[in-house]
Amino acid sequence: MLDSKIAIVTGGAIGIGKAIAERFLEDGATVVIADIDEEDGAAAADELDCRFERCDVREYDQVEALVEGTVEEFGGLDVIVNNAGISSVTSVEEMELEEWEAVLETNLDGVMHGTKAAMPHLRESDGCVINLGSIYGLVGGQGAASYSAAKGGVVNFTQQVAIDYADQGVRVNSICPGFVETPMTEDLLEDERFYNFIEQKTPMDRHGQPEEIAPMAAFLASDEASFITGANIPVDGGWTAF
Ligand code: NAD
Repeated sequence: MLDSKIAIVTGGAIGIGKAIAERFLEDGATVVIADIDEEDGAAAADELDCRFERCDVREYDQVEALVEGTVEEFGGLDVIVNNAGISSVTSVEEMELEEWEAVLETNLDGVMHGTKAAMPHLRESDGCVINLGSIYGLVGGQGAASYSAAKGGVVNFTQQVAIDYADQGVRVNSICPGFVETPMTEDLLEDERFYNFIEQKTPMDRHGQPEEIAPMAAFLASDEASFITGANIPVDGGWTAF
């Protein structure tokens, strides 16, 4: 399904990004995992048998170097998955300004950096951008002011860039997962009160697994999704339907 496509997955060392990289590889794509964590990134690339590049998505120069290096080595770029992110469940009064900035820089600036650096190459390949939004970008959550602000930004950024590039052959979509079991959420999922909140908010009465997010990314990256752009697609066990 993704034969001959060249893809970058940011934050691909663990969690949802790693599952997406694995699924893309299974579907025949060439994948570059990019992550700030060199140890986990190298281990994932070793396990999946693909390329790893260290990259901090908060730094535009590093993202640009990642994209240009990939294009130089593999001859083009078809897909960028802007997945790298950090979490925060701090209310606005409790929040240190540094935490607000870190969440916005990683979760929103990082998405813009990947999109901007990749766009000239995606225009050449009729490629696509896949951003990781969140249910918290679509509806309110619990004590996640900076995270929700960033993810709401990702959702609107996705729509706007999709419109701007629709007539230039580039599709731009986001996946908005509900709660998924990854290193990001392991502490939250161990907190009984929070877990009860998740169960109560999710009609399917459970959280998801990274392997349940990856197929949506594979579909959006494929030519099967040729008429889909500007969509922010929940994969959330029904959370946003409630
Ligand atoms: P995770 O913490 O398990 O993995 C995130 C990866 O991003 C890590 O490998 C980390 O090293 C990397 N990363 C962090 N900051 C970076 C930076 N500045 N530059 C490059 N890489 C960086 O997270 P996850 O749960 O797999 O989440 C992946 C994406 O999905 C995130 O954008 C997250 O907000 C989103 N999401 C997750 C959930 C969930 O429940 N897990 C729900 C909705 C949305």
